[in-house]
Amino acid sequence: MQTIKKRILVETGYLGANVSCLSTARGLVYVDSPFLPEDGQKWADLTREQTGRAPAYVISTDHHYDHVLGNSFLTPNVICHSRAARGLDYLRNKEVLKQIIQDAFPEVLPKYESYLDRVDLVRPHITFDKGLTLGMGDATIVLEYVGGHSPATIMIYLAEEKVLFSGDNVEGQFPFFGQAHFGKWKEALKKMLVLDIDWVVPGHGEVGGKEMVEKYDAFFEELEFEVGKFQSQGLTLDEMALQSKTVGFFPIDQTEDRDETQTLSWVRRQYKLAAEAVLKERK
Ligand SMILES: [Zn+2]
Repeated sequence: MQTIKKRILVETGYLGANVSCLSTARGLVYVDSPFLPEDGQKWADLTREQTGRAPAYVISTDHHYDHVLGNSFLTPNVICHSRAARGLDYLRNKEVLKQIIQDAFPEVLPKYESYLDRVDLVRPHITFDKGLTLGMGDATIVLEYVGGHSPATIMIYLAEEKVLFSGDNVEGQFPFFGQAHFGKWKEALKKMLVLDIDWVVPGHGEVGGKEMVEKYDAFFEELEFEVGKFQSQGLTLDEMALQSKTVGFFPIDQTEDRDETQTLSWVRRQYKLAAEAVLKERK
C-alpha cells in the first residue's frame, strides 16, 4: 500500500483493479473495491485502522467485476453511473458472473465458486448521469461521466489535491476493449489532459503523473493511424492483429497476472476489438 498526498491510500497489488481510499472529515470515500474476498476484508480493516475513520461511500469507476465485487466489504453506500447500476444487475446473475471470471482468470474460479454464489453485488445508493460533486467537508470529489472504456466509465478528481482517478480509461497496460467506444475514450483523455494533475491513479498498474494520460493519448493516436493504414491495405482483423506494431506499445511484463504467451494472445484479441471499434466509428 502507498500513501499519496498524505490522506489517499492506494493499493495496486491486489488481483484485479487498483483500489483507493480517501480520508475526509466526513468519512472514508473508496474508489473501487478488491476482487477477491480476502483482499476486500483486508482493505476494509486496514483503511479503518490507519485512518480511525468510518466508511462513507464507495465509488465504482465502472461496473466490471474487477472493480465492484468487493463493494459489500467496504460499505453498501455505492455511488456509480446509472449505466453501471444496470451492469451490476447483469452481474447479479451468478452464471454470467462465473463465466466472465472463468474467461479472465480461469485459475481463480474453482477456489472461489462458492464465494461467487454468496457474494452480494450491492445495489447502488446513489446513481448519476452526467456528473456529481461530493462535498466531504475538507474534500471536494468531482465525479464526471466520460464513457470510453465502458458505457459506464467515470473519472474522479480530488480538487484539493489535484489527484485524478481515471478508472480504466488509463492503465499501465494494453487496455481491455470489450465494451469500448473509441471516440468517447479519446474525448475522455482530452478532458483529462486539460486538468491540473499532480497524480494519476489508473484503473490498473502503478500510480504516476500526467504523463500516463499523455501516453494513452499517444497510444490512441498511433492505434487509429495504424488501423487506418491497414484498412487501406485491405487487411482482415486477424491480419491486422498479427502485423500490428501497436500491440507492443505497453511492455508485456507489466500486464497483470498472465504469462507471456497468454498475454500476447490476449493483447492481440484486444487489438482486434480495438480495430473493430475504430472501423465502426469511421463508417
Ligand atoms: Zn478494470
